[in-house]
Amino acid sequence: IKILAIESSCDETAAAVVVNGRDMRSNVISSQIALHTLYGGVVPEIASRKHIEKINQVIAQALSDADMTLQDMDAIGVTYGPGLVGALLVGVAEAKAISYAANIPLVGVHHIEGHISANYIENPDLKPPFLCLVVSGGHTHLVKVTDYGTYEILGRTRDDAAGEAFDKVARAIGLGYPGGPKIEKVSHEGDPKAISFPRAKIADGVYDFSFSGLKSAVLNYLNGCRMKNLPINQADVAASFQQSVTDVLVDHARHAIREYHMDSFAIAGGVASNGVIRAAMEQMCREEGVKFYHPSPILCTDNAAMIGAAAYYDFIAGKRAGLDLNAVPNLKLGE
Ligand code: ATP
Ligand code: MG
Ligand code: FE
Repeated sequence: IKILAIESSCDETAAAVVVNGRDMRSNVISSQIALHTLYGGVVPEIASRKHIEKINQVIAQALSDADMTLQDMDAIGVTYGPGLVGALLVGVAEAKAISYAANIPLVGVHHIEGHISANYIENPDLKPPFLCLVVSGGHTHLVKVTDYGTYEILGRTRDDAAGEAFDKVARAIGLGYPGGPKIEKVSHEGDPKAISFPRAKIADGVYDFSFSGLKSAVLNYLNGCRMKNLPINQADVAASFQQSVTDVLVDHARHAIREYHMDSFAIAGGVASNGVIRAAMEQMCREEGVKFYHPSPILCTDNAAMIGAAAYYDFIAGKRAGLDLNAVPNLKLGE
């Protein structure tokens, strides 16, 4: 089964060809990061316009990289939520047009299912059930993947997502957008034990997360330094913040592995490309005796190959979308 996948939920215009959900034949990503850096974050209106400009050439490139044509495709998979409504609409409209014009079945894909499914591409042995920690720009979900396309959410963030915390802290210490990679880079020069930031625990939800308190603690620390005219060591703040996020993520994951007796654990989403978080997860999994899976960095952040992987399992389960498929900006996982 050959799937042309399209992703445009945020600031990446992406298309890919994936065969049987695991064999990635092409993966084209046109990132708008440079464009939005000017404004310190993603500007939705600009993102939509740029998607329109790029989408046709990105799809053409994905097909040509895969050495295939539209006529070779068995299905079109497209992200229809969650994300920015204007950005999503570009991909959805494009996918519907292709589906109608070339008479190819359409499959609507949940963006977070895509992030989780990125793990299938480079790990042929990974099969449900497994636990997955999704850490992205808008989500922090601890999920039990009971079967392909079947998810049980064990915990989620009560406020900011992990990636959002990285982005906000990066802005506060003057690193700018996008925050995650910049914090990781400067953290190598810092001491993760230099400043003791909080590790939030939630009394009535052992698997839930909270990152807004950590963000406030960083802001308070910075303000305190400024008021007392003390120097701020950017690298120490970055490393200490990153360590706090890492400890909380690892702690929750370890707890879930023990309680649910899973033998496989995966991470997904943009924050999963963080080397410090990855190494800590890997060590925890070794200690707990479970297999650790993660996508390569390029498949952690937004891409269409992950949408193709998810679309395949939806497709073989018989799921189809009609030409009435619409963008759903706040689509929930498992609906
Ligand atoms: P969502 O998937 O929840 O809809 P999104 O698509 O915007 O949100 P992703 O593209 O999955 O999010 O990931 C982007 C996020 O990942 C950003 O918040 C970014 O700062 C973070 N990120 C990327 N690389 C790293 C890194 N090396 N370390 C930490 N965070 C990172
Ligand atoms: Mg992005
Ligand atoms: Fe994403």
